[in-house]
Amino acid sequence: MNIKEYEETVAANTPEGYPYLVAGWPDEEHDYDWCAYIDWARDEVDNVYEGEDVGPIQTFDQFKAMRRDENPDRDDLGFSHENCDLCGDAPGDRYAVTAWPEDMGNAVSQGDYIVMSCCAECLQYVANGALPHDLED
Ligand SMILES: [Zn+2]
Repeated sequence: MNIKEYEETVAANTPEGYPYLVAGWPDEEHDYDWCAYIDWARDEVDNVYEGEDVGPIQTFDQFKAMRRDENPDRDDLGFSHENCDLCGDAPGDRYAVTAWPEDMGNAVSQGDYIVMSCCAECLQYVANGALPHDLED
């Protein structure tokens, strides 16, 4: 594959209407969502001994930040038997990429995005535009 073919393949595999590719998946795809927050907050209350005060409960944003800190490698998806969603590369290690719509205003709250599973080279391309090293000129 040469540079032109690579770029054309990535463009062809970018979902129509979702032109913005970003490294990583939204918190909701990692189950850092409102339901998880409420479950966590409920546990915080349930785990208080009789007679003790409930400590300050974190906000939803603080909860999501805590979960992100606990799992810094969450967007490293590990080995997959599927081909890369962007370039079609053979099975291997995959990384989270999200395709966002042109109108991103309420995309997160409406779940209006497409999650993708990509090879390390496509992750680099999405993140900083670096082309895979083994492409022909
Ligand atoms: Zn790829």
